[in-house]
Amino acid sequence: MPKYAITPPEVIGLPIKDSDALFPVRRVYCIGRNYAAHAIEMGHDPDREPPFFFQKNPDNLSPGAEFPYPPKTSDLHYEVELAVMLQSGGSNIAVEQAMRHVFGYGIALDMTRRDLQSTAKKMGRPWEIGKAFEHSAPVGPIHPASTVGDIDQGRIALMVNGELQQEGDLNQMIWKVPEMISSLSDFFELAPGDVILSGTPAGVGPVVRGDVMEAQVEGLGSMVVKVV
Ligand code: MN
Repeated sequence: MPKYAITPPEVIGLPIKDSDALFPVRRVYCIGRNYAAHAIEMGHDPDREPPFFFQKNPDNLSPGAEFPYPPKTSDLHYEVELAVMLQSGGSNIAVEQAMRHVFGYGIALDMTRRDLQSTAKKMGRPWEIGKAFEHSAPVGPIHPASTVGDIDQGRIALMVNGELQQEGDLNQMIWKVPEMISSLSDFFELAPGDVILSGTPAGVGPVVRGDVMEAQVEGLGSMVVKVV
């Protein structure tokens, strides 16, 4: 056992459906503008330009049913996304080999301080201030691929206070799951414990304290998160 000068930070462990084992998180990658209709609503061309990525922090992943409204924003947005958890990794992974690295899937919310992100975009600054804040990625239990199979299609939706706000199909992703794993692995060495948030369909919008978000992905059930 190495000796640490201060108490080492905890490994972030996410619940796995029907298991008492946790999924240990290493890194969190997020893909931007991966559904054409969302790219258009954000003022961008939906053409298949190369994928781009940003990161959140492992401890931003939040399995809780409550989401604390973050400081320094007055325009907090939801983005419902399919999260992909990796059990193995590597560099320069071929698209055809990518799915063997998937451990499982979960429902996630890429919560965004949109006002801070918009300012960062305008000024050519990084996005962390808008994206990588405390509790910014509520995530539901992980469904192992060994039980649910490869997920490449199905309805993805988000309701706020019972009203449908976001709806799409996973088959509308511009860059599919194996393609985003392959592309990421050209830039970074992927490893067990990495989590990829795969982008959001159209319909993003703000929430305020008291709102109840219900995120749904076909085959993964739903996740209810209250803004507090
Ligand atoms: Mn997103």
